[in-house]
This record gives sequence, C-alpha cells and structure tokens, in this order.
Amino acid sequence: MKEFKHFINGEYVPSASGKLFENRSPVDNSLIGNVHEAGEAEVDTAVRAAKAALKGPWGKMTQKQRSEMLYRIADRINERFDEFLDAECLDTGKPRSMASHIDIPRGAANFKEFADSMSHPTEGFRMDTPDGTGALNVGHRTPKGVIAVVSPWNLPLLLMTFKVGPALACGNTVVVKPSEETPATATLLGEVMNECGVPPGVFNVVHGFGPDSAGAFLTTHPLVDAITFTGETRTGEVIMKAAAVGLRNVSMECGGKNAGIVFADCDLEKAVEGTMRSAFVNCGQVCLGTERVYVERPIFDRFLARMKEEVAKLKLGRPEDPEANFGPLVSLEHRAKVKSYYDLAREEGATVEIGGGIPDMGAELNEGAWIEPTIWTGLPEDARAIREEIFGPCCHIRPFDTEDEAIALANDTNYGLACAIWTENSARAIRVAEQMEVGLAWVNSWFLRDLRTSFGGAKHSGLGREGGAHGLEFYSETKNICIKL
Ligand code: NAD
Repeated sequence: MKEFKHFINGEYVPSASGKLFENRSPVDNSLIGNVHEAGEAEVDTAVRAAKAALKGPWGKMTQKQRSEMLYRIADRINERFDEFLDAECLDTGKPRSMASHIDIPRGAANFKEFADSMSHPTEGFRMDTPDGTGALNVGHRTPKGVIAVVSPWNLPLLLMTFKVGPALACGNTVVVKPSEETPATATLLGEVMNECGVPPGVFNVVHGFGPDSAGAFLTTHPLVDAITFTGETRTGEVIMKAAAVGLRNVSMECGGKNAGIVFADCDLEKAVEGTMRSAFVNCGQVCLGTERVYVERPIFDRFLARMKEEVAKLKLGRPEDPEANFGPLVSLEHRAKVKSYYDLAREEGATVEIGGGIPDMGAELNEGAWIEPTIWTGLPEDARAIREEIFGPCCHIRPFDTEDEAIALANDTNYGLACAIWTENSARAIRVAEQMEVGLAWVNSWFLRDLRTSFGGAKHSGLGREGGAHGLEFYSETKNICIKL
C-alpha cells in the first residue's frame, strides 16, 4: 500500500488535518494507496517555502548553473526510468509500451529542452535624446516569482514538466498541484529534486482536489505570482477569476474538439495510421486528439473501412502486457462520462460503426474503467457528441465535397486547439492550415513537437502560448533599463 505525501520545502509531509483520499487503479479498481489532501495550511506553507527559496541559493545561481541542474534532473529521471514508468502506469493504466516512449522520456526531456531554449538574448535599443548624448535601453529578464502549476491526469509527468521545466529554467520556484487521479510521478519527482541538489522550496507538490481543496487554495493564494494551468475549459474559467485578484498572469491550456481533414489526394495509409493514433492513443485522452474526422467523398468508404479494420486490431490489456496497445480510461468516473456520450450519440442518431460499449474484460479486470474504441457516422453537426469534448477513444467520421466545406466544418466549433490535415498537395496543405482557427495545425502528422515552437489553443482552448521563447515571455518578467549617456 502506497502513501502519497506532499513535498514541501524539500521534505515529505502528511496533511495537517489527517485527511486522506484513495488512489485506485483504473485497470481493476484495486487500491493503490492513500493520498494526503492538502488544506489551506499546507498550501500556505508550500507557497511561503517557494517564496523564501527565491531569495536563497536558487535566486543567486547563474543561468548556466540552473541549466546544469535541470540537465541533472532529466538524467536522474532517466536513471530511475522504471520507477517513473511503474508509477505512471499504475496511476493511469496506460500501456507501458506507450508510457516508455512518450510519457517518461518526454517528461524528462522537458528539463533539458527548456534549459536550452530559455537562454535568449535580451533586446537593446539606443535612442536619441534632446541634449544629443543619447541613452541605451537594455531589456532585463527576472523570474516572475512563485508559479502555481495545476496539471491534469492524461499525461501527468509530461504535462507537468512541460511547465516546471521552463518555470525553473527562468529562475522561478513552483508549487505543483497534480491531478487527484495521478499523484505518483509528481511525488516521486520530489526525490529526484533532492538527489540533484535543488534547494528546498524550489519545487513543491501539494495534493488534493479543485474546489474547496488544494487547487482552489493554491490558485487563490495571494503570494502566488502566476498560474499555469492545463485542464478543462470550465476549470480554466474558474482559475482565471481567481487570478484576477492581484492581476496575476495566467497561461491556460484547455480542452479541444479537434478536427482531422482527409483529402482524397492524401496517402491513405499514412492518413489512417495518423488518425488512428490521434483518435485512440492513450485511450483517446489527449487534448490534441481528433474526435471529428472529415473525409473527402471519393475515399470516404475506403477510409472508414480501413479505420474499422485498424480499430478491430487494437489490443486491450494490462499495462504490462507487451501485446496491449490500448488501456482503460483513467477512472470509473471518467468512464461514466464517456459512456454517457456513447449513449447520447446513439440517441442523437449516430450509426455505431464499431465499438460503442463496455467490453467484457473477464472477471479480473471487469471492475476497471475499460471502454470500447468507437467510430460513429451519420451524426448531424449540431449533435452534442460533435460539439462537446468527450475525451475518450471515439471519433465521428463524415464526408465532405469541397475544400471550403471542409474548412468551414472543421472551424465550426468553440474550441481551437489542434487539427491534422492529410494531403500530398503541399499548396493545399498550406492554404488550409492557414485558415484553420487553431493553435497547432499538423500536416501529414500529429503530435510531432519541437519544443522551441509555440504550444497553446485558440478560442475556448486556451489563452497564451508556451514553448520556447513563448514560455520565456510567460515565465519571466521583462524590465527595461534605460541608461542616459
Ligand atoms: P480538470 O480541469 O478537471 O482538472 C485539471 C486540474 O485542475 C486538476 O489538477 C484539478 O484538480 C484542478 N482543478 C479542478 N478544479 C479546480 C479549481 N476550481 N481550482 C483549482 N484547480 C482546480 O481537467 P482534467 O479532467 O484533469 O483533464 C482533462 C482536460 O484537460 C480535458 O479538457 C483536456 O482537453 C484538457 N487538456 C488540455 C491540454 C492542453 O494542452 N490544451 C492538455 C491535456 C489536457
């Protein structure tokens, strides 16, 4: 039985109130362990520790020393790779084959990539003055201060370090509130921080839920200087209201209802392979995932048939099953939500091409959060299953006749996170990509990421951009120093 404590000021501490909540495996609903729930007192201690650490040895380090420390953190995660892998797979139920290629290596790499990309030149302008002597303006970056990192459960380590990496690279300190569903890797990262000599208070973790719990206490804490959040749009709205007090900066990476557009001139097998990944990897629990697929009519039947063939080949199984490439949803609660959309889609007139239900996994696994990968056709565009983010392994496939129609259909959503365009005609690819109302447009690929590029969503999918120089903007304060000559 595991116990997940807070990591505050370099030490593991229990919750002051003694309040615990259960962490259960989505694979079979067995109890993994108990998680300490932070009250206002522990959150306050964590934020104050983070504030104090800004003035300690961390605040005096050079950029190079900090970068070297971030490199050590990445190396140490890789040395303890199997422990991180076990922890992530236990919490999420995802196949080890996936987490060992995506979650853990990319989670570690975030520290190195951002250590490199945060050291940008500052700007400088020489100006004329009426007395003719002139002045120099020099841009100077300082850390923003204490950053609250509120993260989700779908890619727990990866999405958390995507924020912690650049925040630390810029010299900030952090208090992380991981999702209540996935406390393990954030907790383990505390050990790594200590092993790498990161000063106490620089990295802190508080566990708990959102409203009236650690998430709310953290985001309303007056000593938090900025908040970076990944999660649902409606949670983002609540956090933005909290951030308004004291005019704290926010970075919001929220939900999506992403489209795939498959033109008749695509490489069909590439499009099928890419759409399979974008709709079904991580059991469909990827913010960038494709839940709406628009296919040009001449290849519609062939594309649909190939997708069904591939879905039928997905192998559901335990994380450690080397053959398995499809795990359960993260929790029974989330399965109830996804299943309610499966039922709704039927009521709204969908043809269930494949899936649509809860699979029989046998006595050992039937208590887990398993769900069938699902493809629908025939839904009207105003169906709720088309308009609302489901965040499960499902997509609706619909034909289109013209490029303009495909663009209009894809953009007809409140969300604006990502899209994937499949065509071998590069002029069309660029033309369509330029018209998509999204933060991330992929052509003949999906989830291909260079961490120097911008990341974030348009419309209800987010606010602000992270990644590379964009992260630098968010995680540091720019001061102009004007020197009269
Ligand atoms: P969620 O919004 O329910 O929770 C995210 C985090 O916010 C959790 O740590 C939660 O405890 C915390 N939280 C909830 N209410 C809060 C409150 N009132 N105050 C402070 N904190 C609060 O999201 P989730 O279910 O964990 O994750 C799935 C969602 O995340 C999906 O909508 C998905 O699209 C989105 N997501 C977006 C991206 C992106 O980069 N745009 C990436 C991954 C996931």
